Amino acid sequence: MNKSLEKHLKDHLRVIPDFPKKGIMFQDIFSLVEQPVLLKKIIDEISKVVKKKKITKIVGIDARGFIFGSIVSNDNRIPFIPIRKKGKLPGPVHKMKYKLEYGYDQIELQKSSIIREDRIMIIDDLIATGGTAVAAGKLIKKITSKKITFMFVIDLYNLKGANILKKKGYNVYSIIKAEG
Ligand code: AMP
Repeated sequence: MNKSLEKHLKDHLRVIPDFPKKGIMFQDIFSLVEQPVLLKKIIDEISKVVKKKKITKIVGIDARGFIFGSIVSNDNRIPFIPIRKKGKLPGPVHKMKYKLEYGYDQIELQKSSIIREDRIMIIDDLIATGGTAVAAGKLIKKITSKKITFMFVIDLYNLKGANILKKKGYNVYSIIKAEG
C-alpha cells in the first residue's frame, strides 16, 4: 500500500523464530502496538480505506483484530462488531463452521449487529493461510449484500491467504508484506 510506511514499520517489527513451535517465524504485532506513533500511523492508513470504501461497520476477528478494529471504528465514528470463537457471545448469533488441520472450529457474530445494507471491513492483525478470514467472509456474506473489504496489518504473502480471498471476490488490503 504505502511503501515507505511499510519499510518503516518493518524496521520496528519484532520477528521471533520458532515460536510457538519450530519453523514458525512469529510476527510480534505488539512490537508495533506498544509504540503510539507507529500504532497511529497504522490506524491512519487503515482509515484511508475506511473512507474510500465508505465502510459503515468494522468487524474485528478475535483477538488481535479487536485492537486495530476498535481504534479504527472509534476514530471513524462507526460501530465496532466482534467475531468470536464458539460460545463466547451472548444472545442469538450467526454461526460459521470451518475446517482446521484437525477437526473443526466455529466463529460467531451477534445477530442484531449488522444489516443487509452495511458495507463491512473485516480486520485482523495478520493473514497466513486465511482459514479464519475465509470463514469470516462467508459469515458476513450471508448477511450483507455489499462487497466486503478485508484489512490486515501483515500479509504472509507466501502462504497465499490473501490470494484466496481475492479470488473469492473480496477487496483485500494489507500494510506490511512479510514472508511466513
Ligand atoms: P490463518 O488462519 O492461517 O490466516 O492465521 C491467522 C491467525 O493466526 C492470525 O490472525 C494470527 O494472529 C495468527 N498467526 C498465524 N501465523 C502467524 C505468524 N507467523 N506470526 C504471528 N501470528 C500468526
